[in-house]
Amino acid sequence: MEPLLISIYKCPVCDDVLDFQQRHWCCANNHHFDVAREGYVNLLLAHQKKSKQAGDSKMMIQSRRQFLNNHYYDILPEKLSELLNTHLLPRPFLLLDVGCGEGYYSGFIHKNQPECQIWGVDISKPAIAAAAKRYFDISFFVASSYRLPVNDQAVNVVVKNYAPADANEILRVLVPGGLYISVTPGASHLFGLKQLIYDTPKEHDETEAVPDGFERLEQVVLRDSIEIDNNRDISNLLAMTPYFWQLSESRHQAITALTTLNTEINFTINIYRKVPLKIRDFSL
Ligand SMILES: [Zn+2]
Repeated sequence: MEPLLISIYKCPVCDDVLDFQQRHWCCANNHHFDVAREGYVNLLLAHQKKSKQAGDSKMMIQSRRQFLNNHYYDILPEKLSELLNTHLLPRPFLLLDVGCGEGYYSGFIHKNQPECQIWGVDISKPAIAAAAKRYFDISFFVASSYRLPVNDQAVNVVVKNYAPADANEILRVLVPGGLYISVTPGASHLFGLKQLIYDTPKEHDETEAVPDGFERLEQVVLRDSIEIDNNRDISNLLAMTPYFWQLSESRHQAITALTTLNTEINFTINIYRKVPLKIRDFSL
């Protein structure tokens, strides 16, 4: 795929603008970042990685892709597309999906908003490679969401699904008046699954304070229940959650042997707008 003509990237070493030259991205100080075979660019510097394999593993990514492909969570990207239509003018727009994983939601949004340019970023290289292999019209890059190699005021929308991130970085990369859509698990999300894992499952805390520099436009709570009627999807769901790592061997075996599972799904979506800086009044 040819990269988009608009570049939002800045050099992770020196913060200069990155330009595309043949097969790599390059700044004026001659720092180079090659485009991988799959079409993504790795802008994560070695010292920014906490471990050799940062972010989600190949196993988690594959499980999530197989599970999402079966449309269990589609109420979420459908709602996100609807909210973009409600709140976002003018068009076309530039959207950054922070913590995009293997790209399912970026891909869904792109299908509904084909005129818009979308970038997806994740710290997991296998996730970004899988995303780039599948969604050719989206630009994917590897980076930390705490230090985005993205120019100031570069995009109109940031979407963040679950992923941890620094709200100040999101504020920085948005244009004044830009939208920040934050998705977190709702109180009863996957409660049916949690009942199988914990003796006394707790509900998620769904409160989220309005981050500095933003105003909240709307909060949407999505609730539904899903019925999974096969063992493979139940195992995939388990493998894409953090609970997978907290399970005893016996509970793990019991859950992955199930052939049916009913569970609530519950997402909280907060839509924020970057408040433009007030023009100072010099008339006083
Ligand atoms: Zn540089």
